[in-house]
Amino acid sequence: MTEVTLTDVIKRYGQHQAVHGINLDIQDGEFVVLVGPSGCGKSTTLRMIAGLEDISGGEVKIGGRVVNDLPPRERNISMVFQNYALYPHMTVRENLGFSLKIAKRPEAEIESAVTEAAQILGLDELLERKPAALSGGQRQRVAMGRAIVRQPDVFLFDEPLSNLDAKLRTQMRVEIKKLHQKVGNTVIYVTHDQVEAMTLADRIVLMRDGHIVQTGTPLDLFNAPVDTFVATFIGSPPMNLVDGIVTETGALRLGDHITLPMPSEARGAVSPGQEISFGFRADNLMPDGHSVEESGQMAPLELEVALTEPLGTETLLFAEFAGREVQAKMLNPRPVQPGERLPFHLMLDKCHVFDRKSGKALRG
Ligand code: ADP
Repeated sequence: MTEVTLTDVIKRYGQHQAVHGINLDIQDGEFVVLVGPSGCGKSTTLRMIAGLEDISGGEVKIGGRVVNDLPPRERNISMVFQNYALYPHMTVRENLGFSLKIAKRPEAEIESAVTEAAQILGLDELLERKPAALSGGQRQRVAMGRAIVRQPDVFLFDEPLSNLDAKLRTQMRVEIKKLHQKVGNTVIYVTHDQVEAMTLADRIVLMRDGHIVQTGTPLDLFNAPVDTFVATFIGSPPMNLVDGIVTETGALRLGDHITLPMPSEARGAVSPGQEISFGFRADNLMPDGHSVEESGQMAPLELEVALTEPLGTETLLFAEFAGREVQAKMLNPRPVQPGERLPFHLMLDKCHVFDRKSGKALRG
């Protein structure tokens, strides 16, 4: 029973309110990622769950028990930070067992917890080494091992991979995911990196300015963003957004020249004359003959390619569309010269319409 429940949780620093009444139900064994731009309140939220920050209002429950006034050590959580200071004079084995030793656990119990954590994390061969003789990734694994040996109900991760280089970050992401599959504990993980959130989370909680903007599976947020903030934060490259207006007949007018049928999801949610932002991903605008087989409503367009970014299996194409620079994607790429005009098709059924003022998605 290790659900974590936040009810109307508030954090104030003097006059400044950093977290504005957050409600969140995290299930036993769930991997939840709090993500959002710097300063949105995700670390503060995590630290209130950990007991490292006072809660200014509302309630935090872990395993059904209100923990607002419990010190961190009584919450049965383990936290892994960005700065995972290992004790330099201790071996990996001693680092792993240290918290249990301090808690005066019997030698045999410490030995077995350390052995198990070392096996789970592939540290068996390194137990007698000192941290100075480990790579960055190995050190991060020891930091995770220290969290595991305490057999916490909940793991809390605060940007644990931020100090690692890009390649190592990708490797450690996979290791963290495997660790969760093996151990199965509840995990709450904070990052500003949407790729980390997409790849790790069972459920993403996207925050902005101390509020939750959207909660859902990675694909929920990717496929059905509630507003333009989510649409441009989740997914790489960010969703293309083009200004437009709804015509008298309920079609879309984009820029001065382009008229398109209304995407199916927005029909019934728009009114004539409404100012909108039209959103589509690079994957939904592809040159003819360079996409996967697609069904559904297509809009043919001819666009001039200004710039290309070859990525190997695909190439990103930058082109002007209704007065904006947009990105399109070419699968099975061939070289494209700047200035080349190509026939494209836009997958209308995958496109989104947002109210331009509020940024909210318009869905019928
Ligand atoms: P994030 O983790 O999303 O980058 P934080 O939770 O660290 O954001 O911070 C949220 C807001 O609270 C920010 O505006 C930050 O400046 C403010 N804040 C964080 N810690 C303190 C503090 N100890 N004192 C005052 N303001 C703080």
